[in-house]
Amino acid sequence: MNIEVMNGLLTPKSVAVVGASTKPGKIGHTVLMNLIDSNYAGGIFPINPKAEEILGLKCYPSVLDVPDQIDSAILTIPAKFVPDVVVQCGEKGIKGLNIITSGFSEVGKQELEHHIVELAHQYGMRILGPNIVGVLSNSDKFNGSFAPFLPLPGSGSLVSQSGALLIGIDAATYLRKVGFDKLISIGNMSDVNFSDTIEWLDQDENTTCISLYIEGFKDGRKVIEAARKAKKPIIGLKAGVSAHGAAAAASHTGSLAGAAKIYKAAFRQAGIIEAENLDNLFDRTLVLSLQPPMKGDNLLIITNGGGVGVLGTDAAEKFGVPLKYAPEDIQAELKKYMPPFGSAKNPVDLTGMADTDWYYGSVKYAIAHPWVDGLVVLYCETAMTDPQEIAQCIKRAIKDSGVKDKPVTISYVGGEKSEKAMHWLLKNGIPAYGAPDLAINAMAALNEYAKIKEAVNDLGEDIDNVDKQKALEIIKKARADGRNALTEIESKRVFEAYSLPVTRSELTTTKDEAVEVAEKFGFPIVMKIVSPDILHKSDAGGVVIDIQNVDGIRKAFNEIITNAKTYNTKANIHGVVVQEMAPWGTEVIIGSVNDRTFGPTVMFGLGGIFVEVLKDVTFRVAPFSKKQARQMISEIRGAPILAGVRGEKPCDREAIANIICKYAFMIIDLQDEISESDANPVVVYEEGNGLKVVDARIILKKK
Ligand code: ADP
Ligand code: MG
Repeated sequence: MNIEVMNGLLTPKSVAVVGASTKPGKIGHTVLMNLIDSNYAGGIFPINPKAEEILGLKCYPSVLDVPDQIDSAILTIPAKFVPDVVVQCGEKGIKGLNIITSGFSEVGKQELEHHIVELAHQYGMRILGPNIVGVLSNSDKFNGSFAPFLPLPGSGSLVSQSGALLIGIDAATYLRKVGFDKLISIGNMSDVNFSDTIEWLDQDENTTCISLYIEGFKDGRKVIEAARKAKKPIIGLKAGVSAHGAAAAASHTGSLAGAAKIYKAAFRQAGIIEAENLDNLFDRTLVLSLQPPMKGDNLLIITNGGGVGVLGTDAAEKFGVPLKYAPEDIQAELKKYMPPFGSAKNPVDLTGMADTDWYYGSVKYAIAHPWVDGLVVLYCETAMTDPQEIAQCIKRAIKDSGVKDKPVTISYVGGEKSEKAMHWLLKNGIPAYGAPDLAINAMAALNEYAKIKEAVNDLGEDIDNVDKQKALEIIKKARADGRNALTEIESKRVFEAYSLPVTRSELTTTKDEAVEVAEKFGFPIVMKIVSPDILHKSDAGGVVIDIQNVDGIRKAFNEIITNAKTYNTKANIHGVVVQEMAPWGTEVIIGSVNDRTFGPTVMFGLGGIFVEVLKDVTFRVAPFSKKQARQMISEIRGAPILAGVRGEKPCDREAIANIICKYAFMIIDLQDEISESDANPVVVYEEGNGLKVVDARIILKKK
């Protein structure tokens, strides 16, 4: 990222409005008016060959006629004129182009969009947009957009892929009292995209927290990289979680890999805090822009009402920061600030008798106590207390405690007086919310942020004993047959090349051959159909397990071939695979998709109905460390089954973590070849006894 160019684009010292219009209501007029109205101190140069002067500013026929230097040009002209103007801007030495104009890739004109980016890059310029609302910055008093006014000042900055939403959010900042420094509309992201804006906002001294409204990343890996490196909290609201990926899915993993789960994984790996909805984006932006991270898990709640205390307690559990009883010394001290019927356990209930002195004393003591990692103060409006005085005493208590590195969030439940007091708190840097669960959710975001940042460096593991050449040969052979699907036995050979433990298997084409292999492996035996046209072998009656003798082999051979031919008369049948039968164990699934946004991504879950019905699976974008693999195993809902329930011994989870890492290595190593794959099931044994892949499937990328 060229910082000077990006500065020119996002905090220009001077701007040209190309397409400035004399007609009120036109975007080219509105943008000019907004620049003037926002008290922008830099030079403003309207460009319009047909006008002398607009809104009191001298007009120029083209940017090349402007005598002064120009940092950025805002383009509001029709799409067809954009390429010529880009060249003029380049000649003029302009750094960045904010292209408001629409009519590019969003209406299918990818080539035109591509063309203007190429032109801009020839001159070292960057393009924001096209199809944007513009850029708004409070600290620069710069409204270079057609949104009517600057947002309520604050220190969060928002990057939005939707222009209309950005305008809505702009206005809503005043109603919600959540301030922003910058609002950046990135539209079609032809050039400047999420990763650039994250990188730039991370070094922007007026931004303390970065909020993203995302419809889809263009290059997910670059965003992950940028977010990992960022030193400021990033919050992501992902919209459109249903429209993605799942459509053309040949493997199980493919059909389970909706956008929601993969984005969730990517956010976590990138250290991006998720916002659940627009409300949550505001709430979390507020807290993350104002408060430090919550570095441990000890949350203390101080309240004057049992009801909000219980609601807070429920929320704490729901949002992942469950309450623990406060240590004895805290309890002993806090008892001084409550009547005998109060409770100092946690939540600390000062009771309805709580006045400013009690709030002051308890808050000041609690926030400074080393056990406390985060403090939530709840208040219900009462007849005896003044909400504003309570707010002031909380603020004073925090200040007098001298503590600056621990977070505090507040919730008021009450009427207009409470509303006013909360606004006062916000202005004083303390996030306050109208319900206890919101204050707790905000605190949970600070806790998540601390944890998530720890995990961003959990990167890949190196794997020994890899025979990539062997894998590529198998793939090449299938491609030579004109196939995109590998058979089970081919897939297993590829897995073997990456040291994944698969059941011994051999392809046979006659009954005699099958008998020979079975006797070599020893009984019991499993036999299955081998056909690139039959992906789900059981559905075709193509799997026979637990075969005990030679007669069984002969019988199964006939049965499998007959069933397959009935199932699909056109199926190309390679033969029947004879394989060792894995002893009974717990079935899990490991799979992969080559996601179009994030690339190679690994899935893990329990097998059988857990995956079929409950879709109890989790994802990680590869590569990732064994620590992350272990986390995958523990975060699925079915985790207790692997940990051992009701006296059963735990499964070999370490073996699962190992194979997940090998799998991740494999799909990265073969990312040019493999589109989707799965090992379904993998049979896992008791701790120390390993596991076996009994079924394998690889779908190749179309070439
Ligand atoms: P498909 O998924 O194509 O229907 P599988 O190869 O997964 O076929 O076989 C179906 C089921 O049979 C598996 O889920 C597993 O429970 C069992 N199975 C398959 N192969 C073996 C094996 N080698 N050892 C033990 N059980 C097996
Ligand atoms: Mg299977």
